Order: sequence, then C-alpha cells, then structure tokens
Amino acid sequence: MGSLLVFNAKFASVSEGEKSPDSPSTRRMKLNAKFASISNSEGKNSPEAQAAKRLRRYYLQAVARELLPDYRVAECLRAVVPGVGCVNVRYSDKFKRAHYGNLIQCGSVWVCPVCSSKITERRRVEMTEALSRTPLVAVMVTLTFQHSREDKLSDLQRDLSAAHKQLRSGYSWKAFRDKWGVVGAITSTEVTYGLDNGWHLHKHSLYLVREKPDTQAIRNDISKRFEAIMAKLGRYVNPEKGVDVRATDREAPNYVSKWGAAFEMTKAVAKVGKGVHYKPFELLYLKAQGVQWAGEAFREYAAAMKGVNQLRWSPKLRSLLGLGQQLTDGELVEAPEDTDRLLASLTLKQWGVILKREKRGELLEVASTGSAEALQTYLVAVGVYSPIALPVASGYLD
Ligand SMILES: [Zn+2]
Repeated sequence: MGSLLVFNAKFASVSEGEKSPDSPSTRRMKLNAKFASISNSEGKNSPEAQAAKRLRRYYLQAVARELLPDYRVAECLRAVVPGVGCVNVRYSDKFKRAHYGNLIQCGSVWVCPVCSSKITERRRVEMTEALSRTPLVAVMVTLTFQHSREDKLSDLQRDLSAAHKQLRSGYSWKAFRDKWGVVGAITSTEVTYGLDNGWHLHKHSLYLVREKPDTQAIRNDISKRFEAIMAKLGRYVNPEKGVDVRATDREAPNYVSKWGAAFEMTKAVAKVGKGVHYKPFELLYLKAQGVQWAGEAFREYAAAMKGVNQLRWSPKLRSLLGLGQQLTDGELVEAPEDTDRLLASLTLKQWGVILKREKRGELLEVASTGSAEALQTYLVAVGVYSPIALPVASGYLD
C-alpha cells in the first residue's frame, strides 16, 4: 500500500496515449500512474524528493479544483493575469528553482496545496529567524476538546475560537501573563479528520516568556480556565488531554507555521480505517483514489475554514521581535522572488495545451534544472513548441 503514496520526479513518457480527450479523473489516474517511488535514502530534502513534493502539490491542487469549482483555488496557477498575453517560466539562480510568471495565485492557505506550501514555508523562515534572535523562551500550548462524528467542523471551529478569545482576555488573562512573564503569543489552528470521531481541532500557541517556565504549573492554570469556559459553551474538555504544555526547542517554528493545513503526506493515507487522523490534503489524496467520503469531508472543511486566520500574532509581538507588519496569505504568495531569468514564454494557446494535459508541475520540474535548452526540448516533446522553431544563426546561409 505504501507504494501508492510515494511519487516520482521522473519525467518519462510525455506524449503517448494523451491524444484522446480523457475525463479529468482518467487524466489524474494517468498522472498518478507516473509517480513511482523515490528512494528514502536520498533524504527528505534531496532534489528528487523536493521535485516529488512539488509534483504532488500540483496533483492535489487539481483534485481540489474539481471539488471546489467556485473557489479561487480552481483558478490558481491556471488563469493568466488579465491584460497579459503570455505565461512566463522563470528561474531563480539564488533559490535554484523555477516558477511561473503572469498567473493568478489563489493564496488559500487552507485549500490550495501549492499556495499553502509557499505561505507556510515563508512564515516558518520568518518565525525561525525572529525566534533565533530573541532571548525569550518559547512554550508550546495546545488546546483541544471532545467531539463526535456528529459535530460539524464549523461548530467546533466557532466554539474553540470563542473559548480561545475568552481565555486570552480580561483580568484572569492579565494575571496569568504577569505571573508567567508572557510577552506575547503566536497561535495557529490545526484540523484533522478521523473516521471514528470526525473532525478534530487544535489551537496551538507558542507563548513567549521571559524565563524557563514550570510547564506543569502553567498547564494547571490554563486547564482550569479552559475547562470552565468550554463548559459554558456546552463542550467537554478532558482534564488529562485537553491542554498540553511543553517547553520547546528551536524546531518550534517548523511546527507552528505548518500546522495550518499540513501538506506533508504521511503513511497514514495508506490506512483507511478507524483511529487514523487525516490531514486536509491527505483527504484530497484519498479522494483521488476514489474514496468518496474524503471529498465530501474536504468540501465541508473548505467551507468551515474560509476566512479563518491560520496564524495569528498577538499585538505588538512582531515589532518586539523586530518584524514588520504581518503579510496576508495573499501577499505572501505574491512576495517578490529574487532576480530571476526568463527560461521560456508561452502564448495563451500553448499554455492551454499544458493545462489540458495537466503538465504544470512537470513543466516546472524540467525548468528547475535552470536550463532553457532542456525546457525547450521538453516543450517540443509535449507538442507545445514546434521542433523547427529553433532560431537559425545568421551569416552561415550562403
Ligand atoms: Zn493557490
């Protein structure tokens, strides 16, 4: 089963069997069939693994597009910016990666695997740098509460948000802050889905405190209040599991920034069954494998999380850490890249061919070599460029 999950970065056969108009799902299955395993021995960050991850994000984005035709993700990195007649493929020598120019990006951290990856990665880098500069200590506080399959995600989200807001306001919060020397907090929301208990929601906060704290005592303080607040909302917090507090290491930003819509796929996808918790983008993968409930669950999730902040900084914390104003999700995907080179420019008609054949991810991986020649060869092979269109050097034709 595990081999279903691993994807391949090899760009073998690009032309055969693709002349006939396939249904979207048939195309996806073909795309999927091209993914084979990548060796773990090459490491998570090898170029092959990175390429596989990128292909996977485009693949899952195509699944999201079919599930959510009325959302911005359906247009993401497909629709061309109005008034521009071409799609550019650019390469950044600094970051050693290729990207598209002139395409609309949806900036949806919750539902778009491609934008989510960019947003969470940029936030992670920013947070890591900020935390490495500060002498403050980070404490991770995780809140959750009991739920059942009957609970709608939108209801769980509403109640946990309300409780969290209450927890962090009023006299009690001020007293808590003073007692523990809390300077600020960064909070993110995490959603998973399990077949046995339905939606599972967490709030993760990184509390920045002045001194190494007594995590058990902090836990006791928060638990009491959180349980009481949730009880008023008709919710039950397990005294053992509802609140988790731990001192953190330098890895903390990795977790906090990526909790939003985790895009790492895990082995869990291979096991459809009880006791397994699926991350949102794993639901997309299951849907692509023909698991219908996963598609329905993803739709519910998309509606419930619309407009919810994935990551929130408490007031003044950013300036305290020497950071400017927080960029929105949309601004983050538009963040300017370093100076980059133009590898190829496609007309709208040529771009249409790439879209129809679901080649966006693959094209970008070829471009990631940074070689305009390799990209040109690829574009000829997929039938976008004409093989005789190569420029002829002047002065030799006598
Ligand atoms: Zn997007």
